[in-house]
Amino acid sequence: MQAKGRCLCGQATYAIDGDMLWAGSCYCRDCQRESGGGHLTAIAVPGAAIEANGTLKTYTAPGGSGTDIDRTFCSECGSTLFSHPHVMGDTRIVRAGTLEDSSSVQPGMAVFCSQSVAWDPPHEDVPTFAEMPPIQ
Ligand SMILES: [Zn+2]
Ligand SMILES: [Zn+2]
Repeated sequence: MQAKGRCLCGQATYAIDGDMLWAGSCYCRDCQRESGGGHLTAIAVPGAAIEANGTLKTYTAPGGSGTDIDRTFCSECGSTLFSHPHVMGDTRIVRAGTLEDSSSVQPGMAVFCSQSVAWDPPHEDVPTFAEMPPIQ
């Protein structure tokens, strides 16, 4: 896939040129806090496929697996563009809502559904997992 995206203020941008590995929605508490909603939808791409520009900051904290997740966001407006869960090797998890055109994104699974909230239940037309299934 080839795609572009940006943060809320537009200071930070990125370009993707490479294969999309998977797309999914995460309902964990961390994604609820990051997004301010009940879930976060993202696409996974190889690290080499994404190039970011602008002034970025990275927040690192352990994820559900206990290993670190780097979340990279605009230093000005705070929009997270992508994350790098170390447990997934080189894979970057791009926030679907930051894509210039997200119309082709089709989440193939919903993860951490055990933490979902009643006001934003997981879609029933995709496989749902209570925690994180083993994927790269
Ligand atoms: Zn920004
Ligand atoms: Zn999550």
